[in-house]
Amino acid sequence: MIPFLDLKSINASFEPALSEAVRRVVESGSFIRDVEVRTFEEAYAAFIGTRYCVGTGNGFDAIQLILRAWCALGELREGDEVIVPANTYIASILAVSAAGLIPVPVEPDPETLNIDPRRIAENVGSRTRVILAVHLYGRNAADENLLEVARQHGLKVLEDNAQAAGCTGLSRRTGAIGDAAAHSFFPTKNIGALGDGGAVTTDDSRLAEMVRTLGNYGSADRGRNDVKGINSRLDELQAAVLGVKLLRLDEDNDKRRRVARLYLELLSDADVLLPSEPNDRQAHVWHLFVIRTSRRDQLRAALRQAGIETLVHYPVPPHQQLAYREWNERKLPITEELHRSVVSLPLHPLMTREEATTIAQAVRRFSYLL
Ligand SMILES: *Cc1c(COP(=O)(O)O)cnc(C)c1O
Repeated sequence: MIPFLDLKSINASFEPALSEAVRRVVESGSFIRDVEVRTFEEAYAAFIGTRYCVGTGNGFDAIQLILRAWCALGELREGDEVIVPANTYIASILAVSAAGLIPVPVEPDPETLNIDPRRIAENVGSRTRVILAVHLYGRNAADENLLEVARQHGLKVLEDNAQAAGCTGLSRRTGAIGDAAAHSFFPTKNIGALGDGGAVTTDDSRLAEMVRTLGNYGSADRGRNDVKGINSRLDELQAAVLGVKLLRLDEDNDKRRRVARLYLELLSDADVLLPSEPNDRQAHVWHLFVIRTSRRDQLRAALRQAGIETLVHYPVPPHQQLAYREWNERKLPITEELHRSVVSLPLHPLMTREEATTIAQAVRRFSYLL
């Protein structure tokens, strides 16, 4: 049996450092807003290449807090519009709604699967203020074209880096390209905590301070609450765990790239649509390896028969969810086609050549049995 992801083995590969970090925090008796969080925030800011990093409770809150902070700083107003990719995990879009802003979905480029910069301008209105650039599946979405549209229309760029930790674009890390970035340390992400966790990175000191204040009940100083905040903090335990995992992130992403290369070679003659590789190989960290086929359910069944677990990211597009019933009549054909045809093959840093070969062979065998 080849599971989609084996978090037990992945976490075991960080031992004994992982358990030592956990023990250190337990013995410290301090669990919120202390030295582990400060140390990790510093290390992560240095890794991403921004001046500031602020830990948050999760990736969703990281997006929400950035937008709320811009509102609190007078740079956005409730009811302003945010351009979002139609083809993304719905969390990205829900976070925009949670911040009191209006998401405007835009179709993806079928080549990159990321938001299509050529389609952004036609969706910009008088209240559009932000582009949410989601680096879907681990591939940089904030390319020159997207940044150029943002410049032309005076829009801020918010990166959703939940799936792309360690990725590079335009000779910077993703997370340091736009005005601010949201990161998720959900256990299955490229750098995963032992629970929920997230972060905001930015070079803007006022924004970083406001995010920290808003995530701590709107309190910058004990006993004083200047804005209506929420509770969303990275905790000491998760920060200590993430500090251990950060040391190996680049190496792990290189291993992901090697598995992706192998898949691309072994599947080059199979009757499935393969993900395209960016010219700059550093611009993809392969959070997911997503192929496309009109016979997705049959392929998944055949792989299951061969003991290979696959997943679908994602089965129902956000605009067809009841949560966004106001969009249900809308036609977004590229997004809809993608949601019908995508299937994710197992890919993680511990995967062996043999496992990848077995999986690729099963896909090929299926694709020849027309
Ligand atoms: C995981 C994810 C999120 C949400 O992160 P959480 O930490 O689970 O809240 C947001 N956007 C994308 C693209 C994600 O993959």
